[in-house]
Amino acid sequence: MTGRLLASIHDVSPRSEAAVDVLLNALGRHVGQRLAMLVVPDHWNEAPIAGNRAFQARLRGWADAGIEMFLHGWCHRDDRQATLASRHMTAGEGEFSSLDAAEASARIERGLAVVEDAIGRSVAGFIAPAWLYSEGTHQALVAHKLPLAEDHMTLWQPGGATLARGPVITWASRSRPRIASSLAVAALGRYALKLLPVVRVAVHPGDVTVPAIMASIDATLARLVTSHAPSRYADLVPQSPVR
Ligand SMILES: [Zn+2]
Repeated sequence: MTGRLLASIHDVSPRSEAAVDVLLNALGRHVGQRLAMLVVPDHWNEAPIAGNRAFQARLRGWADAGIEMFLHGWCHRDDRQATLASRHMTAGEGEFSSLDAAEASARIERGLAVVEDAIGRSVAGFIAPAWLYSEGTHQALVAHKLPLAEDHMTLWQPGGATLARGPVITWASRSRPRIASSLAVAALGRYALKLLPVVRVAVHPGDVTVPAIMASIDATLARLVTSHAPSRYADLVPQSPVR
C-alpha cells in the first residue's frame, strides 16, 4: 500500500441530505469515515444552513466522526457576471470563477462563519464550486489563511506548496452523453491513475439517481483501495497550519 486515496462528497447541504446519506453509505463501505464533505452554506440561495439546527447537528456529528469539512462556495451558482464561457462549461455553477478579491473574501468569510459555527471547529480548507477559481479567489484564500484548496488537477496550500497533482475521478449525471463518457473515464482512471501517489475521487448528490454511476463508484473505490490507503486531506499537509 503506497498511495493515498482522497474521497469526497460534493454539494453537501440541506437540499442534498438524503443523497448524502446514500453516498456516505456507498463510500463508507470502502473508506470508512476517511472522506471529506464539501459544504454549501446556502445552495442556490434556497437551502440555508444558518438557522437549520437539525442540519447543523448532522454536520457536527459527521465532523465529530472524523469526516473532513471543506467550505464549498456560498451559494454554488455563478449569480453575478457569469461569462458565456463559464456558463457553457459549468452550467453556471462556477460561483467563484469570476469574483474579485473583495467579493470572494466576503463570501468566504460569510461561509466560514456558517460552517465553522455548525461543526464547532475550523474547516479543512476551501474548494471552489466546479473547481473554478478567479485570481481574486486565490488572493482571498491566502488572506483567510485557508490551509487547503484543490481544483480538478491540483491540490495545494494557498500561498504555499502543491501537495498533489492528477485529475480527480468524478462522474456527471446531468445527461446521457455525459454519463456515458464519465463512466468510461472512471473505468480507465481506476487503472491508469493507480500509478499516482495521491488519487482523488469526488461524488455528487446527482450520482445516486443513476444506478450505473453508483456501480462505477463502487468498482472504482474497490479497485483503488487495493493500492491506495483511504486518507484525509490533512494527512498530506506536512504541518497543519493554525488559523
Ligand atoms: Zn459543487
